[in-house]
Amino acid sequence: MIDYAVVGSGIGGSTIAAYLHAKGFKTVLFEKEPYLGGCSSTFERHGYKYNTGATTFVGYEDGHPVKQMFDAIGFTPTLIQTDPAITVIHNQKVTPRYQNVDLFLEAIQANYPHAQHDTFWHMVYEINRSFYKVHGYYYSNASILKNILSLFSYLPLALKFRKYLYTNAMEFILDMYKDLDDEYLKFLEAQVMIVAQAPLKEINFLTAALALGYTFNKTYYVPGGFSTLFDGLTASIEILNRATPVEKIIKQNDHYLVCTSKEVYSAKNVILNTTMFNSDALFENPQIKAFYKSYEKLNNHQSSFMLYMTIKSDADFEHHYQLIQDDTYRYTLSNALFVSFSDKNDIQFAPKGHYSVTVSIHTDTRYWENNVTYKIKKEYLKNKLIKSVCDILGIKKEQIVDQFAATPKTFARYINRSQLGGNAITMKNFLPKLPSNDTPIQGLYHVGDTVYAAQGWPGVMMGVENLKKVMHV
Ligand SMILES: Cc1cc2nc3c(=O)[nH]c(=O)nc-3n(C[C@H](O)[C@H](O)[C@H](O)COP(=O)(O)OP(=O)(O)OC[C@H]3O[C@@H](n4cnc5c(N)ncnc54)[C@H](O)[C@@H]3O)c2cc1C
Repeated sequence: MIDYAVVGSGIGGSTIAAYLHAKGFKTVLFEKEPYLGGCSSTFERHGYKYNTGATTFVGYEDGHPVKQMFDAIGFTPTLIQTDPAITVIHNQKVTPRYQNVDLFLEAIQANYPHAQHDTFWHMVYEINRSFYKVHGYYYSNASILKNILSLFSYLPLALKFRKYLYTNAMEFILDMYKDLDDEYLKFLEAQVMIVAQAPLKEINFLTAALALGYTFNKTYYVPGGFSTLFDGLTASIEILNRATPVEKIIKQNDHYLVCTSKEVYSAKNVILNTTMFNSDALFENPQIKAFYKSYEKLNNHQSSFMLYMTIKSDADFEHHYQLIQDDTYRYTLSNALFVSFSDKNDIQFAPKGHYSVTVSIHTDTRYWENNVTYKIKKEYLKNKLIKSVCDILGIKKEQIVDQFAATPKTFARYINRSQLGGNAITMKNFLPKLPSNDTPIQGLYHVGDTVYAAQGWPGVMMGVENLKKVMHV
């Protein structure tokens, strides 16, 4: 009998599996695909490597949950610090998001002059600095008693940030700036969207400040592609079943049967790294199915459209760009592209003289459901994005040696999910409405960006920390 069966090797699954193994528990990690990392993985196509979704790594610094977990596992990643973290290009205005707040302020003041910038951005900086200093909270909604305990554990955070928690971000910003021009608002919206996954009008100011201040933390490029991080993180796990989808999980009295096409494993506990929106398909037990159904309403159908390119170029590119235009791209939810380049010297990732490029934009899963128009829309949007990226960053079409696109359907085919970016923590979907890492079902746990705390490395890792607490390990 194994102690923990972990289904899925995304940030959440890989980290908790490595931690449990390091603690001496008999742990088995299952991954559907041959490569690890899910939305943060690296895959190979036409002989070139690409990061699937995530390209920026944040939170590897003292006091942050990512470093705390890696230290507990005994894993030290190989990283290259990036500063600026992102270069934002918006109507020919170039704004580097430097880690140093004063350096960043010089750029923002030059591009979008305003007397309030100094006060506003120092406040954003301070909120980010002090947020990660508050520790000790715990979140469970597996019972009413646990709900009450969670609320108490959140009191220090709620008291410290009370004036931002219940204030709508858009109202707060408009009130602070008074006369805000549309162009600067678009800059703020685009920055918030990539981290919070929701627009300013739907979130509180604490969430907005954490999103806007993301780049004041240390940010990193991962050499060799993101999957190298997962390979290192999970290196010591003895039973790591790649290319092994879990097909069914059967609840017995005091354990679970975890079924793949080849074997059935008995496990005392199951940790799912699958989304809350599709995990019901793994079970037949009506109580478990009903549990998942209760969270169906959190599915915002938000997702990503991706363009992957390998280009041959001697030019120097930053690691990450955000390209903002005035109008929303057709078949998407956004006017901003996030563009990432491999490091010029990273020949483990892209051949010498080449760059691996990942471009993403927010879309809605429902735009891609119609089989008749699917291919036309995909081709249209792919070509639009190629044109924008080439025009803005000065890349010639003949420098592109490989290119293809992916839609929410592509994500579903490979990593079993079409909703991406997890649960946006909006004013409507705030604690205690979010699913916690434990469930009312004995021995069944969850981790990943559709449960507490949120998406991305820092968000998912706060969930891993919480999972440790609710499992008492
Ligand atoms: C386009 C894009 C860009 C992003 N950029 C960034 C970024 O730059 N920085 C950042 O921090 N975050 C970024 N994010 C967010 C971040 O990538 C995700 O929040 C995070 O990777 C989700 O991790 P997770 O633990 O939820 O697992 P997931 O990534 O959802 O992985 C789940 C894993 O489970 C596997 N699986 C599913 N079903 C089964 C089954 N039945 N059996 C076995 N295995 C199964 C899947 O194959 C997958 O590998 C980005 C996300 C996207 C989509």
